[in-house]
Amino acid sequence: MTSQLPSWIPSHLQRARPDQCWWCGGLADSREHRHKKSDVVGTFGKAWMRGQVVRVVNGSSYLGQVQGPNSDTLKFAKVLCANCNNSRSQPFDAAYETFSRYVRTNSRVGEEYFSFKFSNIYGSDWRNEREALVRYFVKAIGCRLAEDGLQTPKAVIDFLDGSGKRAPHLNMEMGVNLAKLEMGKHMKFHGEEEGSLWLGDHGPWVDNAGALVGTWSFFGFQWFTLTWVFFFDRVRGRSNFYNSDKVEMNQFWPPGIAAGDAERACTVCNHGHP
Ligand SMILES: [Zn+2]
Ligand SMILES: [Zn+2]
Repeated sequence: MTSQLPSWIPSHLQRARPDQCWWCGGLADSREHRHKKSDVVGTFGKAWMRGQVVRVVNGSSYLGQVQGPNSDTLKFAKVLCANCNNSRSQPFDAAYETFSRYVRTNSRVGEEYFSFKFSNIYGSDWRNEREALVRYFVKAIGCRLAEDGLQTPKAVIDFLDGSGKRAPHLNMEMGVNLAKLEMGKHMKFHGEEEGSLWLGDHGPWVDNAGALVGTWSFFGFQWFTLTWVFFFDRVRGRSNFYNSDKVEMNQFWPPGIAAGDAERACTVCNHGHP
């Protein structure tokens, strides 16, 4: 896998030992779920049990289709050891499950407010739970990097282990994908399950001067989007969910998709002719 890395990836960030857990260096023998199984069941509902393929909005290259909670497409390659994937990251996974359940079951968070408060999700311990949630995101990003042959920098691993406040080397933003939001509403209009879990392509990130400075991607469920940039050398981390209890999520239409596309692309509304 590493031999296929593009030449612009700095050599010191290339994974030297793909058989090692990128977190602790032990034997990588465990596959991390790209999405938590609870998300898959929660967002697919009964639809996947009927064998339906989840429908996605066309016009974008990043929407991967998945067919159920045990699909191999939901799992990363073996990039972690079982201990890191299970017990070490258990508090992170738990914080994420609480977060995603709240977002999925409070539709007004995305549809009206475009914001939420951590304290409404986690109660008085929200600061610690936010730290665990951020580390879930970092774990997911580290698995993506490792799968694609990049080594997570030591500062990021130190952060996972508990040091520091903001995740170094990373810019993370929570957002509302308005195209996914519209698609979900349209599916409900037809009485169908809203189901969409997806991963973005993983590509190069270029700064304003045209220099290649990192990689980026995003992942999410339904309309919720976590967009991230991994900076090779910029250690200081940034995010739009660290300043206060309240988080204002970015609202965006993916390139090439506009309001009304969900209806225009719908074969039911268009008598089989999208
Ligand atoms: Zn490990
Ligand atoms: Zn329709």
